[in-house]
Amino acid sequence: MRRMFWSTSLIWAAVAAGPSRPATIVPGPIYEVYAIEYAKLEGFPASALILGADSARKLDLSMMVWLLKGEGRVILVDAGFYRKEFLDTWKVKDFRTPSDAVAAFGVRPEDVTDIVVSHMHWDHADGADLFPNARVWVQKAEYQFYLDPKNQMRTGVFPSDVKMFQAIEKAGRLQLVAGDSQKVARGVTAFIGGRHTKESQYVSVSTRSGLVVLASDNVYTYENMERHRPIAATWDTVSNLAAQDRMVRMAAKPSLVVPGHDPKVFSRFPAVKAGVARID
Ligand SMILES: [Zn+2]
Repeated sequence: MRRMFWSTSLIWAAVAAGPSRPATIVPGPIYEVYAIEYAKLEGFPASALILGADSARKLDLSMMVWLLKGEGRVILVDAGFYRKEFLDTWKVKDFRTPSDAVAAFGVRPEDVTDIVVSHMHWDHADGADLFPNARVWVQKAEYQFYLDPKNQMRTGVFPSDVKMFQAIEKAGRLQLVAGDSQKVARGVTAFIGGRHTKESQYVSVSTRSGLVVLASDNVYTYENMERHRPIAATWDTVSNLAAQDRMVRMAAKPSLVVPGHDPKVFSRFPAVKAGVARID
């Protein structure tokens, strides 16, 4: 009874204080979030992206990295690719190295403090050594799994990239993330989910509008979310949908879940300049 009295009077005190007295709000970490395109990949089969899609249907993909600015940090989510072996295999259009794409936006490669690698596929991890000072964050289970040569190649993770990660580890810049809901920086959190690879992760970022979720390949396109379809490349479709649902719940609004390869990101969000969209 006494407890009830107390809580009631506290509520009343808050109401009585009225709107003229602003509540004490500790300023939270606020980042600006940008999507930066560094290449296009045209005519990709929809069925390789969206489970059950018509295999005759083709989609154009945007190859992008995401840049977070705030709290004295310059953080990339994913690092794109640039090695010749991948450029030779994948005939992308409008390619510039991810570091050039970021530099065109006014951020020097050496200014990048952190890179959160969502997973170790060539088109997300390969560019990590373009940023010489960055701490590189990857899930521990993901890294350890792909260290084994028999888990490389056929899975989209290549020996050249694993070697590069080992060099980053040797240089003391590799940060192994131990599981779900792990802090990368104040206001930036890594979550596991989606099972795109052994232990793919996604990132939430605190912005002026609340939480933005950068899904990377755990959600390839808007169509995955809007039609509630798993990505085609997942180890576990049930877990992929559960991860997508969690991202939608977590974000300040569903439109603030950003998929990994959808060119519509550049029409749904305002363009800052060619190939750069301000997410929030
Ligand atoms: Zn991937």
